[in-house]
Amino acid sequence: MGTIRFQALLASQNRPNIKIDESIKRSELFGKNVFNDAAMRHFLTKEAYNSVNDAVENGSKIDRKVAEQTAAGMKQWALSKGATHYTHWFQPLTGTTAEKHDAFFEPIGNGNAMEKFDGGQLVQQEPDASSFPSGGIRNTFEARGYTAWDPTSPAFIYGTTLCIPTVFVSYTGEALDNKTPLLRALQALDNSATAVAKYFDKNVSKVTATLGWEQEYFLVDKALAVSRPDLILTGRTLLGHSPAKGQQLEDHYFGSIPNRAINFMRDLEQECMLLGIPVKTRHNEVAPNQFELAPIFEETNLAVDHNSLLMDVMGKVADRHSLKVLLHEKPFAGINGSGKHNNFSMATNTGVNLLGPGKTPMSNLQFLAFFINTIKAVNENEELMRASIASASNDHRLGANEAPPAIISVFIGSQLYKVLHDLEQVSDGKLSPEEKTDLKLNVVGKIPEILLDNTDRNRTSPFAFTGNKFEYRAVGSSANCANPMTVLAAIIAKQLKDFKVEVDALIEGKEMKKDDAIFNVLREYIKQSKRILFEGDGYSSAWEKEAAKRGLSNKKTTPEALKAKISKKSLALFEELGILNHVEVHARYDIELEEYTKKIQIEGRVLGDIARNHVIPTAITYQNKLIQNVQGLKDIFGKDFEKYAGEQINLIKEISEHIEAINAQVTQMTEERKKANNIDSVEKKASVYCNKVKPYFETIRYHADKLEILIDDELWTLTKYRELLFTR
Ligand code: ADP
Ligand code: MG
Repeated sequence: MGTIRFQALLASQNRPNIKIDESIKRSELFGKNVFNDAAMRHFLTKEAYNSVNDAVENGSKIDRKVAEQTAAGMKQWALSKGATHYTHWFQPLTGTTAEKHDAFFEPIGNGNAMEKFDGGQLVQQEPDASSFPSGGIRNTFEARGYTAWDPTSPAFIYGTTLCIPTVFVSYTGEALDNKTPLLRALQALDNSATAVAKYFDKNVSKVTATLGWEQEYFLVDKALAVSRPDLILTGRTLLGHSPAKGQQLEDHYFGSIPNRAINFMRDLEQECMLLGIPVKTRHNEVAPNQFELAPIFEETNLAVDHNSLLMDVMGKVADRHSLKVLLHEKPFAGINGSGKHNNFSMATNTGVNLLGPGKTPMSNLQFLAFFINTIKAVNENEELMRASIASASNDHRLGANEAPPAIISVFIGSQLYKVLHDLEQVSDGKLSPEEKTDLKLNVVGKIPEILLDNTDRNRTSPFAFTGNKFEYRAVGSSANCANPMTVLAAIIAKQLKDFKVEVDALIEGKEMKKDDAIFNVLREYIKQSKRILFEGDGYSSAWEKEAAKRGLSNKKTTPEALKAKISKKSLALFEELGILNHVEVHARYDIELEEYTKKIQIEGRVLGDIARNHVIPTAITYQNKLIQNVQGLKDIFGKDFEKYAGEQINLIKEISEHIEAINAQVTQMTEERKKANNIDSVEKKASVYCNKVKPYFETIRYHADKLEILIDDELWTLTKYRELLFTR
């Protein structure tokens, strides 16, 4: 066996024995390291406490004096927990999180020192941020961006560092991170949704978007993972023959969780508890060594922060267990990939879930209004939604007959489908009293009963209604949820805003009653949005044809999909709602294209290296053994040797053919890369990487995987799929 592989396999059997103490109740651990309400009550002055709460609830500004008081309280709390450092924690456009730790410690002369943290340090910092992507907004010579405290997401202590969630903006005010546009979009949604919710209840003064993500991931033994250069450098395997046993027995999903994995999960969940991440469920996923973790839903900005934090914590906890977490959407060919279902809804300050049916016809009309507006928003912005989940890694799911397809559609289940159908029959103009009664009794009034036993599930849908929320399933497992959530909030905000204008026009202009006006507008919306509703198999080729007929987009690659970001319509949408201006959108577009290009470039290089440094040399070693063998047989049997060496000679030829093919393909791929690298336009370059460089990955892999099964297992240096997937 190749020494690297042999040593990795040996090391993988050497597991740390970590005992997880679960004697303390989770409810007691929960939020212990979060500057939450209880901590604020204890450590803040009344004035500061009220002011921070007002900022959280109403977006009011925090003045200098209160910032000082808050910083003092936060410092005291953090020191009481053993924190030594603080950091502004933010989410630059790399998609991950960033932090730069500063010690509280500060010398004050005469050999003395103190722990210092003041209002200024809490509110604003200026990280040397010239090496974060800015898409040209912030020229490096004026590398000035700053981070500013986001009081709506509470500070927390991780390790010995006080982490303060912040936004990251340039000095000229442009957003340089994922959080800033999200907060703006959530504000826009609050404005529009509150105005519409007031039709139904005057007491509503705030609507909060809620998000409950479900994080899928793979766990691989760390020693095995580090033996694979592709896993370490790209997060996925670029080659590897599928194992004799894969997921075909369907014995993994919801099966009993392997010991090692459960130990990791317990440890992770305890960390999550301390950090206030309300994780609730854990289970095996479909593929071997694939798992899922899901929390209870939260306000969207907080949920996004929690998911970003979780992805970081997962890696650290896994390390303790000699495991590696793979968040990549498709770490292994031939078996299921990973997603991050984003469950989304809207809740009022009066405690109503706007996508949950209610108990009275009026509350159900409210449900229908939000439900249908969401569908219409998706229908009109399906391309922008597709763009918001585009990445090199997610292309392996969305563009490759995997769950879910690259076509955005909405699944609502047959029963709600029927409700919409009935609503579509509502007559034009004012409704007769009979019609209204009928609607209330037989259509709108029936909704809660319908949904209770609505067990309709469609796992192939990218955006499915699941009883009291929409589940956006097309989001990638490694993605920062902020981007798709920003788009979702934005398109629904815009839609609800337009809805309000239309309904008001009917009420005022046509003197219609409020619910007549609402029924009338909704009826038109149903008619306009039909093409987006799809109940069938999203993976089928029939759907691809049907979707094309319906005029739905089907962008299989990131460079294609991203274009919708900078369409006139998208630019206008973001501008109108004050979420991103043209400069900001274009900057993001460039950054995402560049990231795509770099990812493919790195994969190409790594694949070339592995092919030349591992695969070909191993193939030659084995071929030499065969040649020696044939030579020996010739010595013994003379001219009759071919009778005895037929198989060996065939193998020698076959190996040569594969080596030849790999060699040629790697050379050509390298040439294409060189050409691509000389292209100035980021758009063109990404497209060349996508269409000219990436196709070689498949063909090179094909030959390498063939060699893997031809060559003596003893010699093969790369850890095999069966070892990566079934070592537990
Ligand atoms: P499943 O969809 O698998 O049947 P659940 O209904 O429990 O499971 O929900 C899955 C996820 O949806 C969980 O993370 C949960 O917190 C989240 N969720 C439930 N209700 C809402 C809501 N109103 N808004 C956002 N997310 C929600
Ligand atoms: Mg789900």
